[in-house]
Amino acid sequence: MKNKKILAFDIGGTKIASGIVEFKKDGYQIFDYQKNATPKDKKEVVQRLMELIVYYKKGNSFNRTGIGIAGQIDHENGIIKHTPNINIPDNTNLKKIIKETIGENVEIENDVKCFALSENVFGRVKKYHNVVYLAIGTGIGGAIEIDDKLYRGENNIAGEFGHMVIDSNGKKCACGNKGCWEQYVAGRAIEKLYFELYKQKKKAKEIAIDSARGVKKDKKVIKQASSYFATGLVNIINTINPEVIVIGGSVIKQDEILKLAKKEVLKKVLIPGKKTIILKSKLGNEATLVGAGLL
Ligand SMILES: [Zn+2]
Repeated sequence: MKNKKILAFDIGGTKIASGIVEFKKDGYQIFDYQKNATPKDKKEVVQRLMELIVYYKKGNSFNRTGIGIAGQIDHENGIIKHTPNINIPDNTNLKKIIKETIGENVEIENDVKCFALSENVFGRVKKYHNVVYLAIGTGIGGAIEIDDKLYRGENNIAGEFGHMVIDSNGKKCACGNKGCWEQYVAGRAIEKLYFELYKQKKKAKEIAIDSARGVKKDKKVIKQASSYFATGLVNIINTINPEVIVIGGSVIKQDEILKLAKKEVLKKVLIPGKKTIILKSKLGNEATLVGAGLL
């Protein structure tokens, strides 16, 4: 890879991560890394993003800007079609707004597709050709790679596994439907479940850590989440039959939830599907940011 510097953003439901990613021959380094809360009001997200670009322009030189966003993105035209977990109006032409307001050229893409790109270049799946990527954060994002190519679908929604329905009369989802997978497995879902059971607020990360340490209350929550996790994985394997599923995101940092889910997958999946390898991403939290730099 050529030496180049890219300003990169990872815009999620709770935070906007940003930094200058410098790509070198054999890897990358991130400079001036920042994490800011994602604004809750409509239009403020775009405003904050532009403020950050202006800030980075002052102190740095970079070749271009790449942005990964949790939602349905029209990569070709730079349009944010729909973002259930981020308050950005539907059909916002981000590329045009940023070009016209501050003169910067940006490339935008779905955050998990960015994660897929960095996994492909720097991660564990280089040798595989049919891969499903999952990112479990506030919600669940996904991407599908078939014969080494990202499959986007006819309208860019391929891989939205978080909105795969696993209980048609289940919990309400931000997308308007009921019983979507991300309402049972992702960070927000784990926190809600904990609250429903114990009437106490606790961060998903802490619940996962305490469960791994053997705290019973937390274990109950993680066990339940892992079972739903397995249901979704079985659906993915039985329908797409990938060689490998690679999973990233803060929720699975602790191995326990994935280990429990894997056991259950082996019991429930169609027999040939037992061969599907389920891996945890080694790239960590910066994977989407790095992938946005590769756009
Ligand atoms: Zn949904």
